[in-house]
Amino acid sequence: MTLAGGLLVNSDVIVVGAGIVGLSSAYFLVRAGLSVTVIDDGQPASERCSSGNAGMIVPSHFVPLAAPGMVEYGIRMLPDKQSPFGVKVRADHRLVDWGIKFMRSCTTEHVDRCVHLLRDLNLRSRELYVALDDDIDGGFDLTLRGLTMLCKTEAALHHEYAFADRAVALGVPATKLDKAQVQALDPALDVDVAGGVYFPKDAHLSPDKLLHKLHSYLLSKGVTFHWSTRVEAIKTSTSGVSVHTESSQLSASKVVIAGGTWSPHLTEALGVRMPMQGGKGYSFVIDNPVQLPEICSILVEARVAVTPMGGRLRIGGTMEIAGDDLTVNQNRVNGIRKSVQQFFPAYHDKLDALVPVWSGLRPCSPDGLPYIGELDTKNVVVATGHSMMGLSLGPVTGELVMNIVTGTPTRFDIHQLKPNRWG
Ligand SMILES: Cc1cc2nc3c(=O)[nH]c(=O)nc-3n(C[C@H](O)[C@H](O)[C@H](O)COP(=O)(O)OP(=O)(O)OC[C@H]3O[C@@H](n4cnc5c(N)ncnc54)[C@H](O)[C@@H]3O)c2cc1C
Repeated sequence: MTLAGGLLVNSDVIVVGAGIVGLSSAYFLVRAGLSVTVIDDGQPASERCSSGNAGMIVPSHFVPLAAPGMVEYGIRMLPDKQSPFGVKVRADHRLVDWGIKFMRSCTTEHVDRCVHLLRDLNLRSRELYVALDDDIDGGFDLTLRGLTMLCKTEAALHHEYAFADRAVALGVPATKLDKAQVQALDPALDVDVAGGVYFPKDAHLSPDKLLHKLHSYLLSKGVTFHWSTRVEAIKTSTSGVSVHTESSQLSASKVVIAGGTWSPHLTEALGVRMPMQGGKGYSFVIDNPVQLPEICSILVEARVAVTPMGGRLRIGGTMEIAGDDLTVNQNRVNGIRKSVQQFFPAYHDKLDALVPVWSGLRPCSPDGLPYIGELDTKNVVVATGHSMMGLSLGPVTGELVMNIVTGTPTRFDIHQLKPNRWG
């Protein structure tokens, strides 16, 4: 502890949230020579959104969630209780406000404004994951083998091929595959598809191992962790920031809010409204898969992600705009199971319906872009809202947070990510 301007300072920086964004921020801050405290209301092994996800690093995902066709797609999917997309309809002005902003963002112009930045952020993050794997002694199954988008129907394949052309034009390598080429790419897995697109720059890892490794590394570098501690409020003053929990008050020169979908609870009291909805998704793990692929894949029509993690297979899917609700909807889980069996015939009758299902809330902004930047009140930095790309964008977000906190130039122009962009 040090004294700065009469204020008792526990660390240079306090990070709220120990998901991938919070831990990555702590990692880069420590490397910049700062003392860091991390506060989280769960436990190290808690099943936060960053632990149960599909573990994909996705330079191929340069289009945000808010894109043309998404509203029509969502409406079409609403009546189907097993569909990959849903909205938990409820009388909630935040949901209505978010929905209107989302609809307004689903334009070609918006996508065109985002693609370069999302591409650059994802490619930089991939680079940082490779460096991180060296630095913290690996052990989180980082696999640089690409990702395949698998299409069951010709219509979906046609669409993916067009997307592949756009990727290549943007400098993201992509290869169009017919059915035989898909099969040849990963011979250990029988696939029943029309074809696919292979993105060699994508990668995958085991998120729970990554969080565990990062936690151990940060402990070894002197980072202090306060677990099971909920931050109730953040207050700013001329000499720094104080963080208030139920039983204590800590202070620092800067605070980073990396609280995932719950972050707006903290920013609102500081005068910044960040529209956010939890995009609920599910995953489950097959311990002894009947066939184990080497490359991760997305089953395009079903919006299901399939990722080998060590010797196990994790299957994840569903995007239900659900607020803070984490309950498991078995209909949608059955929809995920059914589609895996349709794409991978060897899994017919091989998916145990009783396997435990994990659920997590993706922090979704209405325009599909993260919120990253310092608030006007100063000394409070926000890093959240990464929606379906939070694992992928974790390291680059940590690097940006470090730049903002230390006042060093960011590698990219991130004005589009301003936390106060909705006023
Ligand atoms: C099924 C599924 C599959 C996915 N697959 C992928 C994928 O393949 N690739 C990818 O890039 N992304 C994927 N994602 C998205 C990704 O998981 C999220 O974007 C990412 O985990 C968000 O990380 P985070 O650190 O912002 O939030 P979180 O992991 O939610 O962490 C935030 C932490 O802050 C804590 N917190 C919040 N408020 C407070 C407070 N007031 N006081 C103390 N602690 C607080 C929370 O308890 C939590 O521990 C997937 C998501 C789902 C649901």
